[in-house]
Amino acid sequence: MNKAKNQVQDRLKVVDIVLEIVDARLPYSSRNPVLEQIINQKKHIIILNKADLADPKLTSDWILSYQQEGTAAIEVDAKHDTKLTKLNNLIRSELSDKIAKYERNGVKNFQIRAMCIGIPNVGKSTILNKMVGKKVAVTGNKPGVTKNQNWLKTDYGIDLLDTPGILWPKISDPKVGMKLALSGAIKDKIYPPDDVAIYALDFLQANYLDRVMSVYNLQRSDVYNHTTAQLLMRLTEKLGYKEDYDRAARRVIMDVRNLKFGRVTFDVPGEFYEE
Ligand code: GDP
Repeated sequence: MNKAKNQVQDRLKVVDIVLEIVDARLPYSSRNPVLEQIINQKKHIIILNKADLADPKLTSDWILSYQQEGTAAIEVDAKHDTKLTKLNNLIRSELSDKIAKYERNGVKNFQIRAMCIGIPNVGKSTILNKMVGKKVAVTGNKPGVTKNQNWLKTDYGIDLLDTPGILWPKISDPKVGMKLALSGAIKDKIYPPDDVAIYALDFLQANYLDRVMSVYNLQRSDVYNHTTAQLLMRLTEKLGYKEDYDRAARRVIMDVRNLKFGRVTFDVPGEFYEE
């Protein structure tokens, strides 16, 4: 992590603003700890990407909570939004003082320099591609490839610098690991599927019980007075998977990812995490 931190720190010197991309379903768990140390040094926008998959109410709550901390935040659906106009406007407005200062000194077309950072799979390449307006080779996910600064140019005055190397998430709380596994941000083999599915069912029962009941056609007797492990066994049976609990677990995980329970956000603002 130190190497990545040093590389980010190095590149910070040459940018005006940092675009930190997170998964809107996990606005806390998908943040990279490297940022914590550098946040105060630069203008900074948190991009809650994949907003099309997240609970809209919680996305608004998260944006508000970041804004109350003094950090600009915006929701983005980079998969379906072709131009990312709101994001580009926010970048300009965050830098309006600096742009005005340069204009006063005679610089008319101040070229904004922004660095994009994010853990793998949050949609960084998709955002860079959309901003640049064409398919660009993004090398962030290949260790060792991004040795040199790799500037991408837009035709509207924003130059973009990709994250150097891979920035991994910090999994100091097992709950964070489960959430990352559920979202597909980390490889499926890292956590046993039944652990991830039980975590998901626990969370869904607590927050979206009616959706769980309707997706699996459950009765009250299936969910009340049962442990979540027992519920997974019941689901295995109901789905016709005999005693293949892992298959049922994988099905639950895929159902979460495929929006069978609707748009769900797994991090809640103000939730307590032990460091
Ligand atoms: P990176 O590892 O951060 O560069 O992530 P990618 O840009 O490669 O995206 C990872 C996956 O998420 C791909 O399958 C993208 O199509 C998908 N993706 C990216 N942005 C969005 C989004 O806003 N909404 C949805 N639904 N999927 C997205």
